[in-house]
Amino acid sequence: MAEKRDYYEVLGVGRNASESEIKSAYRKMAIKYHPDKNPGDKAAEEKFKEAAEAYDVLSNPEKRAKYDQFGHSMGPQGFGGGAGGGGGFHAHGFSMEDIFSQFGDIFGGHFQEGGFGGATGGRTARPRTNKGTDLRVTVKVTLKDIMDGVEKKLKIPRLVADPHCHGTGAKDGTAFKTCPRCHGTGYVTHMQQTFLGAMQSEAVCPECNGEGKIITEHCSYCHGQGVEKKEEIISFRIPAGVKDGETLVLRGQGNAPRHGGVNGDLLVVIQEEKDPDLVRDGDDLIYNLMLDFPTAALGGSAEVPTVGGRARLKIAAGTQPGKVLRLRGKGLPHMNGGGHGDLLVNVMVYVPENVTEAEKAAIESLKGAPNVTPTEATSRRIFSRLRHIFNKENRGE
Ligand SMILES: [Zn+2]
Ligand SMILES: [Zn+2]
Repeated sequence: MAEKRDYYEVLGVGRNASESEIKSAYRKMAIKYHPDKNPGDKAAEEKFKEAAEAYDVLSNPEKRAKYDQFGHSMGPQGFGGGAGGGGGFHAHGFSMEDIFSQFGDIFGGHFQEGGFGGATGGRTARPRTNKGTDLRVTVKVTLKDIMDGVEKKLKIPRLVADPHCHGTGAKDGTAFKTCPRCHGTGYVTHMQQTFLGAMQSEAVCPECNGEGKIITEHCSYCHGQGVEKKEEIISFRIPAGVKDGETLVLRGQGNAPRHGGVNGDLLVVIQEEKDPDLVRDGDDLIYNLMLDFPTAALGGSAEVPTVGGRARLKIAAGTQPGKVLRLRGKGLPHMNGGGHGDLLVNVMVYVPENVTEAEKAAIESLKGAPNVTPTEATSRRIFSRLRHIFNKENRGE
């Protein structure tokens, strides 16, 4: 699949564009590529959808902020290229109907003036599409899973279309008649008298619940429901770099609706399991290293855990407690743009809690030795160097 274009680029606006700039840019694109103006032009239709998708995200402050942070790889609708055709801001995820129903306000007026807004701009005469309900599951992931991404298989009880009636609920999938009240449109119109004059309003047809048809004989397998409960194994991939509490959307993997239509989505909520050694801080990891006094004083090396392994670290002579050593790229992968965070090793120095007579004598012998006793100047120098550990920007050296 071709690389997705940047939404700002699609609308031809800068990253700091205001809401009204975005709206007007979208309106221009929508007029230019409107299907009424470009009949049968597939490329124009794609452009039209692409612009609608970009507008959908950039016109919503919450979605826009997420997009600015994560780009195409992730959004409130899920992760790009998720399993089962799910998730992401896919251009083909938008149907023409979606566009007209969601952004009708943009087309209002302007399109009327331009002579558009006829058959395509108005309400389509087809009955509305039923959508099944969404399902939500929580999935636990370890740091290792977050590091590499992971395939998960879940057994999910969900409503699926009854094969006997093809999800329609009607005997053999054919025992229907067109709804006499709405003549198959799924909508009924009311005329209302208001102080502005007669106003026409539309409502979902109560006779057929907007389905446009009425079952004349129920399917005996599902008793007319069109669905049955079934436990199914669903496999999908959790991408590397996910964070606790994030939701992955698997489009169409939720419940099937009654009487046919589009499946709901399966929402997978990420729950991060605590690691016994490593603490997560964004894409960085923190490890508290307890160093013995001789190594801190004389230098040497220390082994620290990493995600899925261990790393050996050089310890310089005179390493102070509170020093932070940075192992570049040993953190978690960034969701966007590649690369990894760092592993920050926070050094502590162990002071013995119990000592033997011999150890006691050895330590006693150091007491008062010139290089073991800090002067005021030494203390000031070390503290000033360590102060940055309280400052996130300068952490590590
Ligand atoms: Zn009806
Ligand atoms: Zn059935």
